[in-house]
Amino acid sequence: VDPQQRERPAAPEPLAYGVFCGEGSSPRLGMRYGERVIDLLRFAECSLLDGVPEASRVFAAPRLNDFMELGPSAWSACLDGVQSAIDDDDDAIWTSSIPLDEVTLLRPFDVGDFVDFYASKHHAGTASKLLRPGSEIPECWPYLPLGYHSRGGNIVVSGEPVHRPWGQFLPKGAVRPVYGETQSLDFELELGFVVGVPSDGSPVRPADALAHVFGLVLLNDWSARDIQVFESRPLGPFLGKAFATSIAPWVVPVELLVDLRVPAGVQDPAPLDHLLVDIEAHVFDLPLEAAIRSSSMEVPDLVCQTNARHLYWSVEQQIAHLTSGGARLRTGDLLGSGTISGPDRLSRACMLEITDHGATPLVLSDGTSRTYVQDGDEVVIRGHGLGTLQSLVVAATRVPASSTSRDR
Ligand code: MN
Repeated sequence: VDPQQRERPAAPEPLAYGVFCGEGSSPRLGMRYGERVIDLLRFAECSLLDGVPEASRVFAAPRLNDFMELGPSAWSACLDGVQSAIDDDDDAIWTSSIPLDEVTLLRPFDVGDFVDFYASKHHAGTASKLLRPGSEIPECWPYLPLGYHSRGGNIVVSGEPVHRPWGQFLPKGAVRPVYGETQSLDFELELGFVVGVPSDGSPVRPADALAHVFGLVLLNDWSARDIQVFESRPLGPFLGKAFATSIAPWVVPVELLVDLRVPAGVQDPAPLDHLLVDIEAHVFDLPLEAAIRSSSMEVPDLVCQTNARHLYWSVEQQIAHLTSGGARLRTGDLLGSGTISGPDRLSRACMLEITDHGATPLVLSDGTSRTYVQDGDEVVIRGHGLGTLQSLVVAATRVPASSTSRDR
């Protein structure tokens, strides 16, 4: 390894897991260390990860799931092994790692069930008023972490383009819907919690819930607002959010982030006992931001600056609620936090809120304005220690065979 490449990262981001493909190597597990990725299969061959059983099998897999299934003792053994080698400046760190710009990062895990919550009170309040004027936060909202089941099969990784979806919606003033390209494609800045330890169908207590979480990942819950509004009364979103959800390539182990936990705000009214027993709700103090770059811009414009500490419901409460009726957690399940909007204008974490559903267009530094995301725009989401999630929005892929609308 070139000695100049052996420089330790000055202010290292936390170690994080991903799946990478290098030149001539099959997809396998890697660990981010500064600007390099440690090939865990090669690193394990140096006998520095002996606490990880079946290392040659789980690290050669093109997904994190097999490793996650080994459980928390193996996860800690892996982190401890890598961290000790870094502390000792062991040669193995360098001989088994590759510069990040020489690898392709793939979707880090096979996604099981995907649930998206609605855990920011700021978002729930503003979004419900904007989408349905006159409506308020639902009656159930202060009593349970509201969410909906979405599609694990449509999770894509940073760098994969997102096609503008088709769907049914009601154009302004129309009485019949049309089937066409969405006119209001939105992003939602969120955190994803990746389930590592499954549950057996009995309710998980809040105090035990964090032990089921393997790690955190940045998440963009793409939303077509016109499709969503037309289809989701009285049920939740369906096709308006089913076409794609993007995640970052790095899953940061929860044990490296627990020190960033802070008490959540006061929960009033108090949740029922099974969502609170003997544990104060805690959220992560993680600064997050979103930016947009049009095709004529070099550098993206910052459009949102927020923090995961603005969430009302904790991940423990989300897991306790999800499992409270008998639902099982499986390794690879993904739990989205919901849009992480905060109290002030700059912390609005989706275009719906940023532009007041189109009433206050956003002007970008190239002079163009946006009510929602346009084809050719790149949405870039960053999170403290969580890396970057960037996605280019591209035109709809196909023209539908026919529209059923007669009044276009
Ligand atoms: Mn969402």
